[in-house]
Amino acid sequence: MHLDARQEDNDSLIEGDICIIGAGAAGISMALEWVDTAYKVILLEGGGFDYDDKVQELYRGVTTGQNYYPLKSTCLHYFGGTTGHWGGLCSMFDPIAFQKRAWIDQSGWPFNEQELLEYYKRAHSVLALGEFEFEVDYWLKQNPSLFSMPLDQNVFWSKIWRYGVPTSMKFGTVFRDRITNAGNVHLYTYANVVDIRTSENVSSISEVTVKNHSGKTQKVKAKYFVLACSAIQNARLLLASNKQSSRGLGNHNDFVGRYFMENIEIKAAELWLKEPNRLQLYMNNPPNFRAELAITPAKQAEYKILNGMLSFVPLEKARKIPPFIKTWTSDDPREDRKRQGKIYEDADGTRISRFFESDAHESFEVTLRLEQAPNPLSRVTLSNEKDELGVPRAHLHWQFTDLERRSLRKIYEMLGEQVGIKGIGRIKLQDNLQDENDNSMPSSTSGGWHHMGTTRMNNDPKKGVVNSNCQVHGIHNLYVAGSSCYPNGGAVNPTFTLIALSLRLSDHLKRKLKEEARFI
Ligand SMILES: Cc1cc2nc3c(=O)[nH]c(=O)nc-3n(C[C@H](O)[C@H](O)[C@H](O)COP(=O)(O)OP(=O)(O)OC[C@H]3O[C@@H](n4cnc5c(N)ncnc54)[C@H](O)[C@@H]3O)c2cc1C
Repeated sequence: MHLDARQEDNDSLIEGDICIIGAGAAGISMALEWVDTAYKVILLEGGGFDYDDKVQELYRGVTTGQNYYPLKSTCLHYFGGTTGHWGGLCSMFDPIAFQKRAWIDQSGWPFNEQELLEYYKRAHSVLALGEFEFEVDYWLKQNPSLFSMPLDQNVFWSKIWRYGVPTSMKFGTVFRDRITNAGNVHLYTYANVVDIRTSENVSSISEVTVKNHSGKTQKVKAKYFVLACSAIQNARLLLASNKQSSRGLGNHNDFVGRYFMENIEIKAAELWLKEPNRLQLYMNNPPNFRAELAITPAKQAEYKILNGMLSFVPLEKARKIPPFIKTWTSDDPREDRKRQGKIYEDADGTRISRFFESDAHESFEVTLRLEQAPNPLSRVTLSNEKDELGVPRAHLHWQFTDLERRSLRKIYEMLGEQVGIKGIGRIKLQDNLQDENDNSMPSSTSGGWHHMGTTRMNNDPKKGVVNSNCQVHGIHNLYVAGSSCYPNGGAVNPTFTLIALSLRLSDHLKRKLKEEARFI
């Protein structure tokens, strides 16, 4: 059922069993799990069904530190959330992403990859990605003309990625009818949550306040609340809800907003082959898979580096594609997306894909997607300016540790070494990477618009914001869905994993509600 909060009575009260705040990848994946159940679900979405600049303007913020995109355009603020712009690339986190690594401070999840396997399978089906298959051998068997790069498997391996066909799934389009036709899911659009109120001792949420530009306001009460507004906004809302707890909710230990992580995208090397090749396994292949070159856990441990993945684009194409950080620069995400699309067009207007290839080439640009080390100084705080609904705007300070620079140099060096030893060709490194004393990041350094870590998960309240069930420490009925919960981001795009985690959270809440019903 769909309701527009602008048409509802001012000062009215909305009540349900579960209140999900935010209808993007996380919020919609969760809500779908509750369709046609006995529970009343309130799904609060700040925007409408389409882009609305007044609502998008609420995302404007300040950035400092490492050069980043304008906050107004990194995420989308309407039904479907940022899936309106995502590329749909999905892969599973490597087991090492979940492990405590002695050389990476604050690394490790409270559980291992096995805990998420069942949920990855379910997320895969939500995303309609076809058969659940991430083993490279499977795809090589199906396609005998493909082959992995002949490098030492103790150093590099080929990791499979999947993506949506014909295009990446826009949740706002694909799931709109299922959500709005569900009698028990009450979707309120133009319902921006601006404040979260707690009981007197701040141990439970009593209600949230909803506002929009019409000037109306409503209150929402529920047994459980799930914050699913994306990593920057989740932190912002917790910090801004500071009337009863001056540091903000879940923030006794000053972790909310800290440990902001991205997948760092760097184009700093070229691969020159002895014999021209298509490197077809690493390009888009039917039905919907391609590989990236990944680093073995043993080598990450030996060199004490972060995880990273390498992809290849024919150099003649790559030279026409500037780094994202140089093109995604306006405040209007639609303009940025359009500009990006144009870059992938040939002069005659035919659409090209950086990962579609029919010819052999002797040179390729090598892009590294690098894991970011958890860093408390990389963080989201509140700025002094407020948005039109009275909420302080977000201030993102993006900052790396020394490990990122050292890892990126080492990973490219390892590739150069392997390509040389195997006699395949050679790697040409960008000048500033060749200088060991130069600690600057390459000018191409971009983010993947992948925001993580701002409500990090740890079972010890002194080390994190949420526990392993995504419950905010100390507040029994407040949960967080999304990549803000990641204690480590890994080198893999975040959305597949955040959907898996949201489905797991959904199961947890269903169990809780059932248990409670037994005692009534
Ligand atoms: C250009 C681009 C390409 C990308 N490509 C990929 C990719 O290939 N693979 C990948 O894994 N990821 C990709 N991503 C990232 C992906 O889009 C995000 O990881 C994902 O959408 C995050 O899901 P989410 O539900 O946490 O947040 P969102 O999808 O952003 O949803 C948050 C929702 O909450 C709503 N909301 C926010 N604040 C409030 C509030 N106060 N009250 C009520 N509602 C609110 C918003 O309107 C929105 O609907 C890409 C992103 C971009 C921009």
